[in-house]
Amino acid sequence: MEGVQEDMSYTAINPFNGETIREFPTTSDAEVEQALEKADYFYHTAKQQPSTERAAQLEKLAQEFAAHNEKYARLLTTNMGKLITQARSEVKKNVEFAMYYVKNGPAALKPIPYNNVPEKKAHVEFSSIGAVLSVEPWNFPYTQIMRVFAPNFIIGNPVLLKHASIVPECAQAFEDACNKVGIPEGAFKNLFINYNQVNRIIADPRVQGVALTGSENAGRKIAAEAGKNLKKSTMELGGTDVCIVLNDADLKAAVDGAVSARLNNSGQVCTAAKRYIVQSGIYDDFLAGISTAFAARKLGDPLDAQTTLGPLSSKSAQKALHEQVEKVLAGGAQVLWGDTSLPQGPGALFNPLIISGMTPENPMYDTELFGPVAQIYKAETEKEILKIANNSCYGLGGAIYSQNIAHAKELASHIETGQVAINQPLTSYPELPFGGVKNSGYGRELSEMGIHEFVNAKTILN
Ligand code: NAP
Repeated sequence: MEGVQEDMSYTAINPFNGETIREFPTTSDAEVEQALEKADYFYHTAKQQPSTERAAQLEKLAQEFAAHNEKYARLLTTNMGKLITQARSEVKKNVEFAMYYVKNGPAALKPIPYNNVPEKKAHVEFSSIGAVLSVEPWNFPYTQIMRVFAPNFIIGNPVLLKHASIVPECAQAFEDACNKVGIPEGAFKNLFINYNQVNRIIADPRVQGVALTGSENAGRKIAAEAGKNLKKSTMELGGTDVCIVLNDADLKAAVDGAVSARLNNSGQVCTAAKRYIVQSGIYDDFLAGISTAFAARKLGDPLDAQTTLGPLSSKSAQKALHEQVEKVLAGGAQVLWGDTSLPQGPGALFNPLIISGMTPENPMYDTELFGPVAQIYKAETEKEILKIANNSCYGLGGAIYSQNIAHAKELASHIETGQVAINQPLTSYPELPFGGVKNSGYGRELSEMGIHEFVNAKTILN
């Protein structure tokens, strides 16, 4: 049966030096049952409370992360290799995500009048539905939890977390922070569970929603379990986002944006610029610019402030990406810049690469390369650009660089993804909906759309 994985281990291993930091005991079935009971208790008691009371509790959680940024940031760096500067930024963003729902969550749940039926009055009110299972990836260990927890806590839906097995200290730190600031028992629970336990939780009637962020592969499995049990789900999956550079782009802005969008978080971002599509008039200058910028990156210890490219998240991620690159090259693509050899040693360092010559015939064409490996395409016309951009099974995000913003907006409308940024790398803001189409999944996180994913939108007619 898919999902069998009984010998699960939740172990934090520093990906820079391979040292084991801490192994956590797994959660027993009895503990899962206890967590479900407490979650259900919270669900029922929260129905009697105003959401503003929970907003005040969520604000305390935001304050905890803000007050102890360094403590939380270091766990990100040691568990999954994020540069310490980027780790501090993630903790800040975690605070921003929480504060958005502190300030806007209760208002987003106000009833909406529908007085458009002749001689009738109606309104839609929004209420909680039950526990939500949140299955999250390791690349943004705190903000991925907060995206689901903050809106659902305001609604009154308890959240059960199954985090990626390589970031257990981050998962535990989030739960400890909730307990420390007095988030009510049952509202949030981290579980160190295996895939079978995940499936049983999805089937449990006390659970009414499943939010997954992860790979397409995990999405297919979790969405199938959710579908089998008729549970509402959101799927935030992978992507092969484009970074389009038109002839009239500001070269420096395009190079800076394209490089940070590919190398941030060591290239392990769902909305990273995985494919550069560059118009022929600016192609040579752009390639020279990104090659220089890639070469300037200093690979090393993510805790060292001098390092500008940290390791991948784990030794197995390093091995997997290396094998993928070999297959990409065997399929006919070429290395334009970089060193394909694997850095030796216990760490998961990976040399950045720029690859060209990827064609739809390459068996790796639609594969998401999750690391510092950029693909570049040269195109003459915008028709050609759009053909390459939309020839993907994914549809998460993208970026366009052009000094003609009106024209860039028009082009953005033709890109088959859930979001496009103009003259800047795509990133998430709590105020804006975030999500994809095609194999990048469905549903939206953040903004008022995110808080409406797991609600009972109840119509009352008189
Ligand atoms: P992953 O391997 O799919 O894992 C994601 C989560 O799902 C982990 O907690 C994992 O647990 C769990 N999981 C995987 N298969 C499962 C199964 N059959 N049953 C139950 N749980 C299962 O992804 P990842 O490598 O951690 O993260 C990278 C991927 O996430 C990339 O594809 C990236 O693009 C995507 N991502 C998408 C977004 C977005 O918002 N669209 C944001 C960030 C990342 P274990 O760790 O225990 O295997």
